[in-house]
Amino acid sequence: MLKGKCFELVSVDAFGGVRVFDRTVPGNRTVTVTFAPKGVVCSHCLNDSFCVHVEFVVTHLDMQKIVMQKRKAGWNIPEP
Ligand SMILES: [Zn+2]
Repeated sequence: MLKGKCFELVSVDAFGGVRVFDRTVPGNRTVTVTFAPKGVVCSHCLNDSFCVHVEFVVTHLDMQKIVMQKRKAGWNIPEP
């Protein structure tokens, strides 16, 4: 699968939902990656494993502060 420049961080909401624009997804092309205490879930891949969208979000520079806070709080945020 194509990675990197296919994805774009769209927005982050107060509840831990991160919208990612994915050029490889047909239709509206927006995927939501949600942070939860037991893990990070992708609306497109529908599992809590480490898909490309989760990887993109947890490694994104703009997300590092949030990722650090969640890890500190004991949330199960996957390491790339
Ligand atoms: Zn995904």
